[in-house]
Amino acid sequence: MTSLVWLRDDLRLADNPALRAAADRGEEIVVLFVLDEESPGIRPLGGAARWWFHHSLAELGERIASRGGTLVLRRGPAAAVVPEVVRDAGATAVYWNRRYGGPEREIDTDLKARLRGDGVEVASFAGSLLFEPWTVKTGAGTPYGVFTPFWRACRQLPAPRAPLAEPRSLDGPAVDGEDLDTWGLLPTRPDWAAGLRERWTPGERAARARLREFLGEDAATYDRARDEPAVGATSLLSPRLRWGELSPFTVWEAAVSSDAPIGGFLSEIGWREFAWHTLFHFPDLATSNLRPAFDAFPWPPLAEDRLDAWQRGQTGVPLVDAGMRELWHTGFMHNRVRMVTASFLVKNLLIDWRRGEEWFWDTLVDADSASNPFNWQWVAGSGADAAPYFRVFNPELQAKKFDGDGRYIDEWAPDSMDIEPIVDLGETRRAALAAYEAVRAAG
Ligand code: FAD
Repeated sequence: MTSLVWLRDDLRLADNPALRAAADRGEEIVVLFVLDEESPGIRPLGGAARWWFHHSLAELGERIASRGGTLVLRRGPAAAVVPEVVRDAGATAVYWNRRYGGPEREIDTDLKARLRGDGVEVASFAGSLLFEPWTVKTGAGTPYGVFTPFWRACRQLPAPRAPLAEPRSLDGPAVDGEDLDTWGLLPTRPDWAAGLRERWTPGERAARARLREFLGEDAATYDRARDEPAVGATSLLSPRLRWGELSPFTVWEAAVSSDAPIGGFLSEIGWREFAWHTLFHFPDLATSNLRPAFDAFPWPPLAEDRLDAWQRGQTGVPLVDAGMRELWHTGFMHNRVRMVTASFLVKNLLIDWRRGEEWFWDTLVDADSASNPFNWQWVAGSGADAAPYFRVFNPELQAKKFDGDGRYIDEWAPDSMDIEPIVDLGETRRAALAAYEAVRAAG
């Protein structure tokens, strides 16, 4: 008898409850990944994410092979592909870790019912979030809209479970699959991924090494220096969590059992949980304002040249240009700079947050369908527990405060001072605040 484990945002062997359940069943295992770009509502991966995903999956394939198994790759709508592989493998059980986006949940719920109808055992598990969205409710039974009480409520629930051991053997029957290289996930003409290769080693092994290194070294300065982009005090774990190379349970346990001061870090993990909580209850997070009054915002016609200058890091505002070039080069941007560049787009260039969200979606290696739109709406002021619209980050003051010696700007955009700024910060700030009056009037 064979168990099928369907991997999704959980490209790891350690602390993988679905894989663990299959191993505990003590039968043969087939591990499957389905590249589903066809099911309705599934958002196609951005370019940088595809790069990461390719390498992470390749590494996982090697790790599975070293335990005697095969990672079966198939492409197509999951609703058709998964039952096909169940038949090909002769599987009598299917296990997966749960997803929390609207279209993903619909696919999984339908599949669960169909497979069960065919007599297949199906079980799903919590692998990607410490506190599943429906388990955290206000006294009135509604979802949380403000972070602090949300996180307080989470911390009052039973503590996150200990991570599960990885299975030693993954033997199973041979099942036909596709070759990863035929999926065309890597950029070729042009190959723009040199900076990504320089900066990152995707995969579970490197993820675990980075977790150890962070807690052993950088975490000591996290609370003091996490807002300074040149310092490198943050964990850089976001792509690891995005792709599930590390589970949040593993990160949590390693953090709480380390000697490092981890209070601030745990609360950032809490923001990740809150973003997914919000997406679960508001599946249109990437396309609709969470606060409906924002629908009244009078966005001017899109100024393509301004959007283009922002994307290329050619605005003449040094901290903005440095961030946008770091993003393009490495697939990553420091959190403080993400907030500044996002605020500049929305509140100085008066460009709809959705255009910025799309660009980050395409260029971030950690882009995920909760954190990216959630944070864009937070900066824009249209979202959950958002920064008020009238809080406009001043990129010059932010640079003085968080990049006082100019190291970050020197590294990424030393020439930006010589570019004529594309807008006047004070004038555009005033125009943005005037436009915001329409939202205020709408309620
Ligand atoms: P650390 O400071 O070490 O934090 C630890 C972990 O907590 C992170 O790895 C991440 O998983 C989580 N985390 C931290 N801050 C946040 C936050 N504000 N919201 C949600 N989770 C958080 N993060 C993503 O993972 N994916 C995105 O697509 C994404 N898009 C963003 C867009 C904008 C406009 C902004 C302002 C922020 C965005 N963030 C996103 C949040 C944050 O910038 C990154 O998680 C963080 O910079 C990652 O660096 P780190 O791993 O070193 O963070």
